[in-house]
Amino acid sequence: MFSQSIYHTFQRYRTLKTHTIKALPIVILMPHSACNCRCVMCDIWKDNKNLKQLTEKDIEGLLDSLRKFGTRQVVMSGGEALLNQNFFRFCEILQKSILKSACCLQALLSKKMQPHL
Ligand code: SF4
Repeated sequence: MFSQSIYHTFQRYRTLKTHTIKALPIVILMPHSACNCRCVMCDIWKDNKNLKQLTEKDIEGLLDSLRKFGTRQVVMSGGEALLNQNFFRFCEILQKSILKSACCLQALLSKKMQPHL
């Protein structure tokens, strides 16, 4: 858990009261839209043919907004985030600018990638 300033807490309160984003403590990104699993309860993999991926430029373009809204954590979800070849570069960029990043990964690739996590 992370501590928050009174100012940031107030900005979160203002977000709730005004329905205008003033603070965004956690952001979830989708680095890669496709998935290499075929879970029966999920339909993400059914749209693998319409692949969309984030680029370094996309991530760098978000940094000012993440700072402005006091983002403290970025969660990488998907699809399978590790299918994006620039995944670890994204983590480097975010960790230099934002306090924490986390991954929401499925087990197949995460075992192969464990030395890098
Ligand atoms: S691992 Fe996650 S994203 Fe992939 S098919 Fe299963 S539930 Fe969907």
